[in-house]
Amino acid sequence: MDHENLKYFREPHKLNGQQARWYLKLQDYDFTLKHILGKTNTKADILSQKDQVNTKEDNKDIQLLKNEMWTRKTTAKVIMLGRKIMTEESDIIKKIQKNNIREKEVVQALEKNNGLTWEEDRVAYMEERVYMPNNKELRKEILKKHHDPADIGHPEQHRMMKLLKRTYWWPGLKEDVKRYIQGCFKCQQNKVQHQRKAGELHPLEIPQGPWQEISIDIIGLLPKSNGMNAIVVIVDRFTKMIRLKTTTTNVSSERIVKIYRDDIWKLHGIPRKILSNRGPQFASKFMEEFTKALGTKRQLSTAYHPQTDSQTERINQEIGTFL
Ligand SMILES: [Zn+2]
Repeated sequence: MDHENLKYFREPHKLNGQQARWYLKLQDYDFTLKHILGKTNTKADILSQKDQVNTKEDNKDIQLLKNEMWTRKTTAKVIMLGRKIMTEESDIIKKIQKNNIREKEVVQALEKNNGLTWEEDRVAYMEERVYMPNNKELRKEILKKHHDPADIGHPEQHRMMKLLKRTYWWPGLKEDVKRYIQGCFKCQQNKVQHQRKAGELHPLEIPQGPWQEISIDIIGLLPKSNGMNAIVVIVDRFTKMIRLKTTTTNVSSERIVKIYRDDIWKLHGIPRKILSNRGPQFASKFMEEFTKALGTKRQLSTAYHPQTDSQTERINQEIGTFL
């Protein structure tokens, strides 16, 4: 720096944008400015006369490195700078530099020296990503940074991987991401809530209270007695209470609704969900009749359960042997 420049910095001025940035940056350092007379100040000359550096000589130096390696290195540096890794994450970089624990595959990749992996300032770069040394604490810190903050918002595995791989990499990263999400209380809580919601469509989820979820099955063909050859079996899936009513195998859904209304609804009210072994059409037909008969606008969820509800099947078997 020339004397005039120094003088400028010591006097109050309205700073332009670039000067303001420098000013802020310089505030981080303790320093004193000294003016060294022109001739003795050779170091400053090199810095301030950057534009006059012999470009031919410069190119010579570059050629000592493999061409592709050079471009890759430059690209990586630009990428890193673009992500402000040098400023915002400089403390992370410092921590990385303190760790020289290298996994076998990383050491091997570095030895291969194929231009995809290199080391600089004690930071290893693996295909344009910063290699995170094998340090549990440090890796956890990085995982946390790419998951917990509000602006990142607890991403799921795939998105978290994408975010992380923009800058970092280490062997077993995917497994670590998976494990981190599994260990995240908030994510697991969300998952349970999500499953509950999806569960409403799942016929065999455990019901939440008595007579909310029932199954209506028809068992037949049974030996004819008083014109009846079948039994309607209504089971509350929560209390396991059973209601039985003799009927015929060709019973209409309308008739079943009537049975339900007279025997169950009076005592237990309207269920939320009805399961049936009578085929997929039955449930919707039943619901239609049901809402008509009870004058309710409440939407029931219905589901067909082919021989899957082992509990109802077991009950049916018992009734079968009883008869
Ligand atoms: Zn989470």
